[in-house]
Amino acid sequence: MSSIFQDNLSRLKKAQEVMGFSDSELDYLSKPAQIKTATLNVSGKEYPAWRIIFNRDLGPGKGGIRFHPEVSEDEVSSLAFWMSIKNSLADIPYGGAKGGVKVDPKQLSEAEKEELSRQYIVNFYKYLGQDKDIPAPDVYTNSQIMAWMLDEFEKQTEKHEPGMITGKPLELGGIELRQDATARGAYIVAKEAIRDMEGENEKPVFAIQGFGNAGSYLAKMLNSDGYKVVAVSDSQGAIYNEAGLDIDKLLELKANKGSVIDYKEADKISNQELLNLSVDFLALAALENQITESNALQVKAKYILELANGPVSNEGDKILADKNIVVIPDILANAGGVVVSYFEWAQNRTGNILDPEYLVKLLEKKMKLGWAKVYKESQDRKITLREAAYVIAIDRILKAARFRGKV
Ligand code: NAD
Repeated sequence: MSSIFQDNLSRLKKAQEVMGFSDSELDYLSKPAQIKTATLNVSGKEYPAWRIIFNRDLGPGKGGIRFHPEVSEDEVSSLAFWMSIKNSLADIPYGGAKGGVKVDPKQLSEAEKEELSRQYIVNFYKYLGQDKDIPAPDVYTNSQIMAWMLDEFEKQTEKHEPGMITGKPLELGGIELRQDATARGAYIVAKEAIRDMEGENEKPVFAIQGFGNAGSYLAKMLNSDGYKVVAVSDSQGAIYNEAGLDIDKLLELKANKGSVIDYKEADKISNQELLNLSVDFLALAALENQITESNALQVKAKYILELANGPVSNEGDKILADKNIVVIPDILANAGGVVVSYFEWAQNRTGNILDPEYLVKLLEKKMKLGWAKVYKESQDRKITLREAAYVIAIDRILKAARFRGKV
């Protein structure tokens, strides 16, 4: 299988075919602007760590920090690339960045997690800041980790700067909307897609891979609005009930037992079987590379909604397109998280706290606008939604780079 980053290069080349930018511009778009690495040392063990800014023509770096045993430079680079594209598409004043530590956080005590978070900042604080590069939570990092990181940053730099990181606790300058922002954004985009592609009154059936932050909030929103969610999964397995799952009960079970697989009123199925279900919408909210050339042929859903970053490989994409399965791409569908991070950063910078109801409306407006322009571009050019999203995002980055005289 090709590396995730090679997939990105293929997608960039496809955008070049459609848009016709030069080879030197392709080369510029294919290379990270800055790669910083470090080795963190906690309780006598060493953990490789990265912070990568892929592009900063539209503004400072922006993107989460991931703690995961499979983190690699290829993955962090790819995630930083996707952030550049996503931020450009969302029309927010950021470049794209990402960070990661190769660690299994489940093996660490709370004190060790704090030490790891602080060490990350001790090693990288010189490259971070509200006008340089702004981290946020990602897989297995949360608001407590952001709080430790902010505290360490302020210790190192001897000043308050809450805008250097987002996804913080409310008391440290965080924002209420952040918790469910990614799911809310994806939900808004899904409803727009349903209206434009299926009709106003349709209530499609969903299966959701990944019942963590993004997936569980999406399930809750769908359920509250009368959509049926027939299957969900987590790292331990999947459950299915054709009649629909009670999401409130599942949330309680997950909170108490740590997994959805003990839910009694459903059949246990494998994660792979979940991906193959005959549902209208398959929402992918776990990790990257879940649908590839090895399993895309078996997918039967009509739509794929990508909440995770990069859950469908480039080869997987081609197979799905041949089967007329519509993929609503990550860089559009999961942008709600970073849009709300932008609200948090803007509040931190101005000290002006905005009304949450206004911000919810602003998020809704931004997500709807994102869907409308991507859908129109894909219809006009007869390309997939992902290709359309790339074309719009790359156009904005290239214009900025040309103004700067970089290309
Ligand atoms: P999370 O850690 O809260 O949840 C991930 C879930 O996926 C967990 O329930 C885990 O058990 C499950 N999982 C892991 N491997 C699996 C597998 N093989 N099959 C099925 N389930 C599996 O993480 P999250 O914050 O919900 O993020 C999920 C994805 O969404 C990631 O790719 C992340 O980068 C992306 N994302 C999240 C946000 C956000 O704001 N949370 C924003 C943008 C993108």
